[in-house]
Amino acid sequence: MRRVRFHAHTLSIDRNCASASPGPAEVVLRPTHVLISRIDRHATAPARTHTLTPGVSVLAVVDRVSSAPGRSPGEIAAIGRAQKLIGQRVVISPCVPCSTCELCMRGLSTHCARRAIMGISGRDGGLADELLMPAANLLPVPESMNDEHAVFAFLAGAAAHAAASFRVEGKPYITVLGDGPMALLCVQAMARLNASVRLLGRHESKLSLCERWGIKHRPEHEAGRRNDQDVVIDCTGSPEGPAIATGLLRPRGRLVMKSCVSLGVREASEAASGDSIAPGVMDAIVRSEIEVLGSREGTIGEGLALIQKGHVQTDGLITRRAKLEDAPAILREQRPGEIAALIEIK
Ligand SMILES: [Zn+2]
Repeated sequence: MRRVRFHAHTLSIDRNCASASPGPAEVVLRPTHVLISRIDRHATAPARTHTLTPGVSVLAVVDRVSSAPGRSPGEIAAIGRAQKLIGQRVVISPCVPCSTCELCMRGLSTHCARRAIMGISGRDGGLADELLMPAANLLPVPESMNDEHAVFAFLAGAAAHAAASFRVEGKPYITVLGDGPMALLCVQAMARLNASVRLLGRHESKLSLCERWGIKHRPEHEAGRRNDQDVVIDCTGSPEGPAIATGLLRPRGRLVMKSCVSLGVREASEAASGDSIAPGVMDAIVRSEIEVLGSREGTIGEGLALIQKGHVQTDGLITRRAKLEDAPAILREQRPGEIAALIEIK
């Protein structure tokens, strides 16, 4: 089988890997569609030191399940469900928690300190002919949903999580900063709230999608820094994001961060990469008593539900299509105007 490999700071394709052997309660999947966006480029940035196969937004077909029995009632039930999904399309929750620590026991497994995340840290992702995952991480895709919509389940789940992370009172002014796939999904999820919502971005072609969806939008450089927004969701993934956001937010407003990168929080191995929080941001946060809220992934179930109900549109978000063999080059180079790239694995 083939797989994309990030190793020793470089990306390549392994063409003759041994087929995967599932452990207890694991399933072998055949990925068919994988999205590439900023999160995958971050996981494979040259400064990173880990070794893995990238790919966190994955649509796959269930190929086979482990013959080893599960070790707990939950695992046995998950394997039983996965048996019935053989040959069917599924999306995959990337988070693999330890299931034994105090946070996992309290139902906070997304905050497990020992968790692995498929394609991001500690576990191989979907840019391969085969993928091993715990049976519990699969969710079947409704028959009526097409492949290119379903593959957005992970990103749409993160957008749903952001929209649910704060209480909406008195029709607040909400700005979504950025025009990548996360921003474009977030602004659609926010537009369902009882709020005045707009997106500030930098690329005319991406802003035109908001026009199509009937969502307010402006080029970021044209928006005044009037300190009049109640909530700003920073999806820029750039150190400039928080600086722009603090110029937009009213005193005691709320800054929702969708990326660690923007706050200068880096893996220790990336310390040489140079990005850091812009001067004055922490000062503005303290002086204006801005509430900063971290927001990571939601659930793929929430994501699929948003897509199925038509609450987020994904048409227009795929701006590049390629084969598995092209994935290393796509991970290294984002074209101007690119939103998300789709790798079709055949
Ligand atoms: Zn845990």
